[in-house]
Amino acid sequence: MKKQDSNAKVKIIPLGGMEQIGMNITAFECEDSIIIVDCGLAFPTDDMLGIDLVIPDVSYLKQNIDKVKGFVITHGHEDHIGALPYILRDINVPVYGTKLTIALIENKLKEHNLLKNTKRKVIKHGQSVNLGCFRIEFIKTNHSIADASALAIFSPAGVILHTGDFKIDYTPVFGEPADLERFAELGKKGVLA
Ligand SMILES: [Zn+2]
Repeated sequence: MKKQDSNAKVKIIPLGGMEQIGMNITAFECEDSIIIVDCGLAFPTDDMLGIDLVIPDVSYLKQNIDKVKGFVITHGHEDHIGALPYILRDINVPVYGTKLTIALIENKLKEHNLLKNTKRKVIKHGQSVNLGCFRIEFIKTNHSIADASALAIFSPAGVILHTGDFKIDYTPVFGEPADLERFAELGKKGVLA
């Protein structure tokens, strides 16, 4: 990752999920690097007869394929991982997530015969991954699925906090509570968005 730079700009490009329910996929671009957070499916609305699945439009990523460094996945729900097997055919870059999230993705890749051709990496909460000019830290959150993460995305332009889906639960049914301390720490240092 590069040092903070007051002239640096980071673009946040939602590729789905804003108007439709379900399709969570957002690209973050800075200089020569693009990372993609989540890669979900949407289910068709009633007026979309004969359509089974709605897959995000990733033509922007295809046009900029040289910049695309990887998928960073917050958790294993369908609306966050469901489109991966379709999108990876065109955008074949490594996939990063926590243990359960990667396991769920691997099930899908197996179904689609993509396991051999897809690089995956398990990241633990508190760990970071460097992708181009970004560093992405996985922070533990609680959600209705285990192993969910928020992401602190460090870029030359500043820190962006991507919360994923979560609820604050001081007494979660499974696992440890969310790492609220880390959120507070990041908040103190200053977050861009
Ligand atoms: Zn979810």
